[in-house]
Amino acid sequence: MILEPQVVPSEVCCRCEVCCRFPEAGSLLRPYFTDVEIGQAISHGIDPAYFTNRSGCQISVISDHTGDGYLCPAFDPETRHCRIYPVRPLDCQLYPFALMWSDAEDYVLFGWDPKCPFLLVQSGEDLPPFLSDKDPSRLTLPDSLVQQAHSVAGMLESKKTLEYLSTHPRLITAFQPDVVIIKRLNRLTAALLPPQ
Ligand code: SF4
Ligand code: SF4
Repeated sequence: MILEPQVVPSEVCCRCEVCCRFPEAGSLLRPYFTDVEIGQAISHGIDPAYFTNRSGCQISVISDHTGDGYLCPAFDPETRHCRIYPVRPLDCQLYPFALMWSDAEDYVLFGWDPKCPFLLVQSGEDLPPFLSDKDPSRLTLPDSLVQQAHSVAGMLESKKTLEYLSTHPRLITAFQPDVVIIKRLNRLTAALLPPQ
């Protein structure tokens, strides 16, 4: 599954220090790979040992010998490129958009992550909410990006993708208070939660 177009230009991501790096080995932000994505990653040279559950799991990360923290084993710190870019998982393709449960876990939300410096700048802010104490709900994106976000949300709720996400509910993360909410995904919620 390939999400097009990519919201952040590739040349911007190549200069950025945020994605593909993690503060802890057990970071909750490590990308989740489905069974198919694990197979594709392995066929593109990633050691199967980085996947603890071949039916779907977050990838195990490695120490960053060039700095602090940890790296995705698919990330090449010298070229700053993903070694499996054409088959990177949906979780990576989605970012800096986010699919997450509401705080009460009663519906699925779609939003954007102001930890992405590109989107943060587009919103006119200098600091992400966790550094500025600003309420994330007060951050806004330009209309063109909002339209792009709604287009991605629409694709996520297309019949084919709803089936895919229903089979891989781990792609919906726990609530992240810093993420700026764009909309509720009612069809996806209905597909994931049994009727009351
Ligand atoms: S944080 Fe944003 S700009 Fe940086 S690599 Fe990720 S998507 Fe690209
Ligand atoms: S799979 Fe590629 S894009 Fe995703 S975290 Fe790893 S290096 Fe980054």
